[in-house]
Amino acid sequence: MTEMYDVAVIGLGPVGAALCNLLAQSGLRVVAFDAFDGPYSLPRATHLDGEALRILQNAGVSETLEPSLGIYTRMRFVNAQGDLLLDWPRSVEEGWQGWRDSNRFHQPALETALRENAQRHANLDLHLGQRVEDLSQDRDGVTILTRSPAQQSQTFRARYVVGCDGARSTVRAVMGVELQVLDKPEQWLVVDLIINGAAPALPEGTIQYCDPARPITYIEAVGARRRWEVMLIPGDDASRFAEPGHVWSLLAPWVSPGDAEIERAVVYTFNSAVAERWRRGRMLLAGDAAHQTPPFLGQGLCAGLRDAANLGWKLAWVVKGLADERLLDTYPSEMKPHVTAFIVEANRIGAIIQERDPEMARQRDEALRTGPQLLKSVRPSLGPGLTRSEIGPAASLSAQPRLKDGRRLDDLAPYGFILLCEPGFSAEAPPRTRDLWRQAGLTVVEGEGADWLESLGAKAVIIRPDRYILGVANDLVQLEAITSQIPLRLKDALCD
Ligand SMILES: Cc1cc2nc3c(=O)[nH]c(=O)nc-3n(C[C@H](O)[C@H](O)[C@H](O)COP(=O)(O)OP(=O)(O)OC[C@H]3O[C@@H](n4cnc5c(N)ncnc54)[C@H](O)[C@@H]3O)c2cc1C
Repeated sequence: MTEMYDVAVIGLGPVGAALCNLLAQSGLRVVAFDAFDGPYSLPRATHLDGEALRILQNAGVSETLEPSLGIYTRMRFVNAQGDLLLDWPRSVEEGWQGWRDSNRFHQPALETALRENAQRHANLDLHLGQRVEDLSQDRDGVTILTRSPAQQSQTFRARYVVGCDGARSTVRAVMGVELQVLDKPEQWLVVDLIINGAAPALPEGTIQYCDPARPITYIEAVGARRRWEVMLIPGDDASRFAEPGHVWSLLAPWVSPGDAEIERAVVYTFNSAVAERWRRGRMLLAGDAAHQTPPFLGQGLCAGLRDAANLGWKLAWVVKGLADERLLDTYPSEMKPHVTAFIVEANRIGAIIQERDPEMARQRDEALRTGPQLLKSVRPSLGPGLTRSEIGPAASLSAQPRLKDGRRLDDLAPYGFILLCEPGFSAEAPPRTRDLWRQAGLTVVEGEGADWLESLGAKAVIIRPDRYILGVANDLVQLEAITSQIPLRLKDALCD
């Protein structure tokens, strides 16, 4: 008889691989498939924010990844004449997430680290080189049909399926879900070079060349890698745009063939879209399968990791019978508005960079040089769901303070609920509240993070496994109230 897995993850890109780690760490029986044997070897994402690194810390891979991270210093915007329009510096110190706010990295290194860590979990079965071709769901689970390159087909069963199978998702197609387009797609050439020692000095950080004749992005990637993204304009022949001779002519102001080797030159379509539904019964979507953003904010993969963090613990709670299945509906309701805020901001920045009308570009330059600072990192709260965002800092991202012994807060309870409070505060909580904490596997941390608690104006804060704030409290009544928001189905029985 076919084994019934708890969750099947379709696609082992960075989002699927992160989700596998989080689910396996939560104790579920997980099966995962990828159409290819190894991770995609060419870089796509080059930027990870502090929250993304915190999620990877909770998934157990940050230590492996940390030595390969680079410092992201700034993003500058210049006009066709080379005048500085905007400077967006990033702190090079550790930030409020316990990691630098902006980091450079190599996506294949991340994917390798995630897959290697996943292989350490005995409760996770990886099937590489197996393309998922079809899925069908019934009352008890989902049947998954896979095919190997040798055309051998196999059938698997799982209670839930998560499609992490990228922008052209098969799972999304089987679910019959359409993409809601948020902005016009644009074609951009993406060129990665590996620079040799003889190359001239290249700029630091990221530069947006806002030239209406030809918008270009330059990115200082990690190690010897440098990226140029070049917008295609009417009249360009997309089929020949990535040919080496043409690529070198585009990059001539910076480098010549003797300075570097082309690792990859491909024309991408930068899409802005969100899937209309993220859940249909036992099937869910995450990562690029659920949303796509142009890369101007460096947030596509970060958003996918946030999906994995939000969904993983909810699936674990439902599978273990700790929570009602309706908890899964809070995944799209919380995350769809959240990612949409990032995509809208990426489109706003993209409109500054991609302006093609010379007169509009002139007006833009004038406004940017004289007007208010327009750039800051977006930090939306979660959409409506488990946590009521209208109450104080609830539904916003929690900080991750360093502990007195130098460790990071989450290391005390990786991917678990945390109650952080003033010394002695939790001891006064009534037994039924403590019972709920025990059921939820909540870890109490006292006498740490005093500065952050003070900035919240609170004596206590409950942090969810995905690291968003469930609620804050200043007295025992409030503490009981936020504890009651933990989505335990057993709580009615416990609160006699
Ligand atoms: C030029 C560029 C620059 C970018 N820069 C950034 C950045 O700086 N920061 C950032 O955060 N994001 C960035 N992104 C976005 C980021 O790369 C993506 O959001 C991220 O790779 C999405 O991860 P994913 O796991 O959802 O999908 P993918 O990486 O696409 O992985 C999907 C996986 O599913 C597998 N698969 C597909 N179909 C099937 C099937 N039927 N059966 C089995 N397996 C299947 C594939 O083989 C693949 O391994 C950039 C993207 C581009 C193109």
